[in-house]
Amino acid sequence: MDKKGSGAFVRNVLLLLLLAALGLGVYAFIRDGRPPVLGLSPQGSAASYNTDFTLTLKTRDIGLKNLSIYASQDGRSVEVLKRSFDGKPLEHTEIFRLPRDTAFKEGPIELSIEARTHSLLFFLGRGKASLVRKYTLDFTPPHVTVNQGVHNVNQGGAGAVSFTVSKPVQRVGVAVGEYFFPAFQQKSGDYFCYFAMPYDMPPGSFKPRVMVRDLAGNEATQTLYIYAIPKNFKFDKLNVSDEFLNDKMSQYSAQYPQEQSPLDIYKRVNSELRKQNEVDLRRIAEDTSNSTLWSGPFLRLPNAAGRAGFGDQRDYFYNGMKIDHQTHLGVDLASLANAPVPAANDGKVAFAGFLGIYGNCVIIDHGLGLQSLYSHLDSMDVAKGAEVKRGQFIGKTGTTGLAGGDHLHFGILISGVQVSPVEWWDEHWIQDNVLKHLNRQQ
Ligand SMILES: [Zn+2]
Repeated sequence: MDKKGSGAFVRNVLLLLLLAALGLGVYAFIRDGRPPVLGLSPQGSAASYNTDFTLTLKTRDIGLKNLSIYASQDGRSVEVLKRSFDGKPLEHTEIFRLPRDTAFKEGPIELSIEARTHSLLFFLGRGKASLVRKYTLDFTPPHVTVNQGVHNVNQGGAGAVSFTVSKPVQRVGVAVGEYFFPAFQQKSGDYFCYFAMPYDMPPGSFKPRVMVRDLAGNEATQTLYIYAIPKNFKFDKLNVSDEFLNDKMSQYSAQYPQEQSPLDIYKRVNSELRKQNEVDLRRIAEDTSNSTLWSGPFLRLPNAAGRAGFGDQRDYFYNGMKIDHQTHLGVDLASLANAPVPAANDGKVAFAGFLGIYGNCVIIDHGLGLQSLYSHLDSMDVAKGAEVKRGQFIGKTGTTGLAGGDHLHFGILISGVQVSPVEWWDEHWIQDNVLKHLNRQQ
């Protein structure tokens, strides 16, 4: 290579290096300046001191440096939150409320949010994002007017109530202990709600309350004045035989592969799976119609003898040893083997399939959280989503699930909580306890 050639080579290399450095510089400049992306919920315009605002911050390359949130009203600005980040997180979620001591009035406010990254050229305003959102402060709780007093509710039974609420709400229903029964707005604008008095709640603890939360997060409650009628539930002894275990546990062995004996599987099915099924029922109950689908008393399996009742307290024995205690939460009806099972009332199939202890099980939704359950079926003639009429055959009785002999286990559920079906076979009870409140609505 001559001198001239080597000089050109060096120049070319230097040029390439220069271009590469320039490219890197441009890339670093762009990367350095990218602002964080901000997201703020709720989007809605109503807010109060109870509103949980959720702010999300995201950057792509260089981490977050700081964040500030201000609220302003009528030209007065108040600091809500200031944060400098440890390390350089690429994302952050901040849940905040307006401080109560801001002493804002009801009416419009503005939230101003500013967030910065670790941009080196911050003094040029780079790596900065801001967001301004308008809300209307509302501190007036909704007012609930119960249309008429509910008189009596049986332990393990159902009740219904209708009421008006003075403003739009986001959550509305009746709270009973740990349970919450959603209410449904009717054409008239009033709300209607079925609720249950759980079988295991002492009558003295039964204090159902209407609970509402408006769009701004203001809450109100209204106690219902109800007399709880205590019930004495039957005690029952069940002997678990080897024949029963050998026959039934094959249904569940795949679910509990670590258990060696049918008895060990049984213990888990009868306790764990039973509990899981209660959760399943609550989930299935969410799939309910906003309108009433049923009319008239519910049908009972024809020509059937009542076996076990609702709320029966069952002690389970194996070889004379007590191995478990559970509560029976339906009514067992025995007819001929493989007897056709009629839908108890009009509705829409919310579930049809194998459901743990219930075996082959159909659940029919009757609207507003009311559902009926048919279990231990030998065969099912309907699928989820099908509309059924009162009396229409939906399957045949059988022994699937935890059933010793051929029978129908029939249940009624209020938002997934099991109640005594007996009330729903009684036209007078329905008239006095349900239709009186429901008919106001239609
Ligand atoms: Zn049963």
